[in-house]
Amino acid sequence: MIGDRAIRAPSATARRREVSYWCANGHQTRRAWSAAAAVPERWECRHCGLPAGRDDAHPPGPAPTKPYKSPLDHMLERRSEAECEALLAEALQGLRARRRARSRLARPHGPLR
Ligand SMILES: [Zn+2]
Repeated sequence: MIGDRAIRAPSATARRREVSYWCANGHQTRRAWSAAAAVPERWECRHCGLPAGRDDAHPPGPAPTKPYKSPLDHMLERRSEAECEALLAEALQGLRARRRARSRLARPHGPLR
């Protein structure tokens, strides 16, 4: 990773500090922060993805899991079913128009009848 190389460069380490984070599975994740930057209290464990905190004796618990939502569920949250139908019809119309245009290009003299 480019970021890691930059951290190891001697000139860069002088202006950076390394902070360790621990997750509930006991993994340690080290991050180097700019000396001027505010260091976050939590970071994602790079081994298992759990939230990791700076206190190794009291790592944060797993993040609450959100129920899975499909793209359609998200769309229905923002729009009515009628609006979704209209958007779908519009998208299909565009798709069909592009397909027709492409098939005309493939057969420049048009379909044989
Ligand atoms: Zn972990």
